[in-house]
Amino acid sequence: MDYADSDRARELADRARELMEEVVLPIERERAGGMAVSSGTIAELRDAAREYDIYAPQIAAEYGGMGERFRDALPVFEEAGRSLLGAAAMRVDAPDEGNMHLLELAGDELQKETYLEPLVEGEIASGFSMTEPLDGAGSDPKMIRTTAQRDGDEWVIDGHKWWTSNGVEADVLIVLARTDPDVHPYEGCSLFLVPADADGVDIVRDVPHMGGGARGVSHAEIVYENVRIPDEHLLGHLNEGFSHTQARLGPARLTHCMRFSGMARRALEIAKAYTSEREGFGSTLSDKQSLRHRIADAETRLHVARTAIRDAADRIEDGDDARVPVSMCKVFTANVTQEAVDLAVQCCGANGIGKDLPLADFYEAVRTFRIVDGADAVHRRVIARDAFADVNREELEPLTRFGDPNTRRGSGH
Ligand SMILES: Cc1cc2nc3c(=O)[nH]c(=O)nc-3n(C[C@H](O)[C@H](O)[C@H](O)COP(=O)(O)OP(=O)(O)OC[C@H]3O[C@@H](n4cnc5c(N)ncnc54)[C@H](O)[C@@H]3O)c2cc1C
Repeated sequence: MDYADSDRARELADRARELMEEVVLPIERERAGGMAVSSGTIAELRDAAREYDIYAPQIAAEYGGMGERFRDALPVFEEAGRSLLGAAAMRVDAPDEGNMHLLELAGDELQKETYLEPLVEGEIASGFSMTEPLDGAGSDPKMIRTTAQRDGDEWVIDGHKWWTSNGVEADVLIVLARTDPDVHPYEGCSLFLVPADADGVDIVRDVPHMGGGARGVSHAEIVYENVRIPDEHLLGHLNEGFSHTQARLGPARLTHCMRFSGMARRALEIAKAYTSEREGFGSTLSDKQSLRHRIADAETRLHVARTAIRDAADRIEDGDDARVPVSMCKVFTANVTQEAVDLAVQCCGANGIGKDLPLADFYEAVRTFRIVDGADAVHRRVIARDAFADVNREELEPLTRFGDPNTRRGSGH
């Protein structure tokens, strides 16, 4: 399917596709069987991405990226999503990708030099610590309990976070903490750059979880106890942690959609290849009308998702935060991709469950997408709030109300 992407975006997508076809997919297929790849392999893939000139397209050139427009980098994210190794190769992988974006937006020059540039290079890893255990911040981030208190020219952080992706591997953790308990949390929280080896940072465990096949990252439970960091580690403005977080999450949700739409595309490619070869009951499976219609529906929904993602990306590039379109994309793409992967598993029979193909890993990975970066219900809440913001009650004028006989009835109209 062709989209109204710029010439530059097409050129980048072509390079990304070449890298995927010639380097990433062969390595993925070699490692069939659900084997995790080593950090050495990831480093090799990144070297290859540099050779193909498609490395960190979304980051400004001065920090080691390619300085492409957000909208032009979009098809690169889609291509990368076709394998669980693609995003890591092109350095468009979560959570570092969102954290790099945040550092680029909110970091000062020293913070960029210390953390952003090595992150882009792939020399260090990062985590974003917002979610807390059961009685703290989750779908409702206002329930945040982690605090940061100023003590002279230092901050002292105390709290308990979990599901910090990359938390075990991270060299630096971006922590959201309450800095003013007397105001609404949206006006009283800040972000801090916390070195993972700072005194008082206890990486309790990688929470055992679904997914993580070929390229798994940890999702860590972390206790921050009396962690002292200097004032310079405040990221962005004091008490503006939530607006900085929103600036990170908006585009990051959309880049998740781009990567996952690539996963849906690949899942359908595999399903079409398998059903075109496999025979049963006198013809190939791809000749069965019921199956063709299901693939047709999946292709249609994927096309709608990819179109909506482009629309939201255009709005973001025009300076709009595109909150509602991004929420719509997030819910829709997550469900469309989950359905496409599920269909592909079904089409491939036992080979869909086996790990010689990537579908089983996709199946586990895609389920997380309906929860991470805001569960479906949270995004539906945003969409519904907007939908109900401007209700036109005039539509109900013709209706009869108690004690108010409808005088128009029987008036001859
Ligand atoms: C793979 C993965 C990676 C993650 N990475 C990170 C990370 O790097 N950093 C980080 O800070 N967090 C991370 N998270 C945490 C994630 O952001 C939270 O799981 C998510 O915000 C939901 O919070 P919760 O798990 O506390 O669910 P809860 O808040 O307990 O919600 C449970 C369920 O209730 C439903 N629900 C919630 N609100 C409503 C409502 N208003 N109406 C109806 N139903 C509702 C939803 O279906 C939701 O799934 C990650 C999670 C996963 C699964």
